[in-house]
Parts: sequence; C-alpha cells; structure tokens
Amino acid sequence: MNYQGVIKRYRQHLPVTKNTPIITLQEGNTPLLLSKSLSKIVGQKVEVYLKYEGLNPTGSFKDRGMTVAVSKAKEDGVAAVICASTGNTSASAAAYAAIASLQCVVLIPKGAIALGKLAQALIHGPKVIAIDGNFDDCLKLVREITAEYPITLVNSLNPNRIEGQKTAAFEICDVLGVAPDYHFIPVGNAGNITAYWKGYQEYKQLGKITRLPKICGFQAEGAAPIVRKKIVKKPQTVASAIKIGNPASWEKAEAARDESGGLIDIVSDQEIISAYKFLAVKEGIFVEPASAASVAGLLKMAKQGFFKNEILGRQAGEIRIVCVLTGHGLKDPDCAIAAIKKPKTLAVNLKAVVKEIGL
Ligand SMILES: *Cc1c(COP(=O)(O)O)cnc(C)c1O
Repeated sequence: MNYQGVIKRYRQHLPVTKNTPIITLQEGNTPLLLSKSLSKIVGQKVEVYLKYEGLNPTGSFKDRGMTVAVSKAKEDGVAAVICASTGNTSASAAAYAAIASLQCVVLIPKGAIALGKLAQALIHGPKVIAIDGNFDDCLKLVREITAEYPITLVNSLNPNRIEGQKTAAFEICDVLGVAPDYHFIPVGNAGNITAYWKGYQEYKQLGKITRLPKICGFQAEGAAPIVRKKIVKKPQTVASAIKIGNPASWEKAEAARDESGGLIDIVSDQEIISAYKFLAVKEGIFVEPASAASVAGLLKMAKQGFFKNEILGRQAGEIRIVCVLTGHGLKDPDCAIAAIKKPKTLAVNLKAVVKEIGL
C-alpha cells in the first residue's frame, strides 16, 4: 500500500489504539541524502548523511509530532489546541488542526517570525495572537492557559509530540541498517533531541540496532542556555527556530548528551550562515538557518580535528554521521535574500548581457 504517514508506519511504537482517529498529511518518510561534499571534508572513511526534514508537509519535522498530538487530542474529544511558536510549530499545528476540524490558537512573538512561517500560520485559519515578548514568554502563557482551561497544549511538552518525532530516528536506522555513529542536531526548545534519543534507545531495546549514536546538539551563540548553564533572558540569533532562552526539555537534552557520550556546543550566526550557503551551493538543499546549525557544528568539529582518532583504524565508509536538516529554506526567504548579493540589473542589450555572463 502507499505510504500513509508515521502513525500507520510505526503504530506499534506509538501511543495509538484502534480508537485513535489518524490525522495525517502523510508526514515522515523523508530523504536521507548522502552528502559527498561533507563526507570529503570530514574524512575519507566517513559518510555524512542529511536527514532532510524540510520535506515534511508543512516544511519541518514538527509534523511528525503534530500528527500524533492532534490525533490524540481528537481521540480525547477536545475542541481546541494551542501552542507557542517561533513559527514552525504554529504552521504545523494549524495545518493538522484544519484537517482534524479542531480550533487552533497560536501565540507568536511579535515581529520574530520568519515570513514563510507567518504566512503558513495565517492561511490555515487558526486564531493567531502576536505577543509583545519572546518565545519563552509565549510558552509561559500557553502553559498557564492550558493548566486552567480545556484546551490541549501541542508544544513539545506534550509527550505525544516526542512520540511522533522519535520516528525520524527509526527511519534513519531502517535506511542505514544500523544506527549512525554520530547524530548532529540543532537544539532550541530541546524536544527534538529528546525525541531522537528516545527513538534510538527504543530501537536498541527492541534489538533493531546494536549500538547507539553519540548525540551532538548545537545551539546558536546568542541563544545557548544549555551550554552556558544559564537561562538566556534575551536570546539573539539569525536562526529564529532556535532562538530560545529557556528550553522546556533542558534536562532531557542534557540526558541525551550525557547518556550517549555526545556533546552540546555553540555555533555562531556566521558559522550557521556559512553552513546554510554551503548546503545550498554544494548540495542543492535549501534549509532554514536553524537547520544549518547541525552542519555548522559538524564543520566546526571537523576543523578542530575531532574525528581524527575515530577515523584511524576504520574501514572506508565505516563512520556514519547524520545531520538533521530540520526545516525548509522557503520558510525564511528574507534570510536567503540578505545572505546573497543582489543580482545586477542591465538594459535589454545582448552585448552587455553576454559580457556580464563572461562568454
Ligand atoms: C523547532 C525547530 C528546531 C528546534 O527544535 P527543538 O525541538 O525546539 O529543539 C530547529 N529547527 C527548526 C527548523 C525547527 O522548526
């Protein structure tokens, strides 16, 4: 049968029953692309794969969690769902609420949402409220509202979101036949790093993989509370999806790091934009800036010689690294336009155009 989304594919691993209505846009089953250019940079015996989550129905991995969260909300008979969002959660919640015929409310930080995400949230018809504060303020409000009123929270604090998102780890293992050695991922509110670690651990318990990857998370320099061990009151970064100063799953992210023997480190906005351009130019993949944090982290560590000892004594292609590319580049067109030189304008003049091309 045709692919029908992550719940149908992985239902025995998910908290669904025959009474759960399956609300799906056929999310998941995203490409795992071998990056020749990154493999070459990191080392001869290394294969770097890119898990391109920007190809989910609303353009980010949030859809994997939202299909489960909204299906369960529908099963529970609630009338409405609510989330705080830097953009992608609201886009996803609004789309899944639309097919589930649920009301949806989204709280977004005023002026801090990338253009594509704002368009998505608005077009699917939720009640959108811009808050004169940052993401952390929005999430605090949503937690207070859901504690008092009959409306279901669909941020990653909702365990059903984590359940759905762990399916990306299953897909990676199913495609590679093993777990990767390293798993690189951007960290914002820290739900996704939590979900991947849960997914890998469950697959190991089931005997589907024999070892676990080291989880390497990356926060933006101006929004790195976990690395700095301190809440960041005014997070700043070009990567709006990880512009979070007080991650909800802080401790779980630390657990994923420590239990896996991995790390959580910082990448600068400059490193993020450089990886963002690299992916577009060398791999033909357009991601939003937050997504490039995983690759920026990999490039930073490769430059520091981190993988040298790993590579010694290994066969070619033996070290597998997966970088998660969390969201699509069209989410944030302003970032792309700002990052690249504007095209030159010429008159309708064949000679001048030919000269400009350099022929
Ligand atoms: C949500 C999001 C992140 C951060 O994921 P967390 O689960 O909040 O850590 C990173 N990139 C993109 C594109 C996102 O939408």
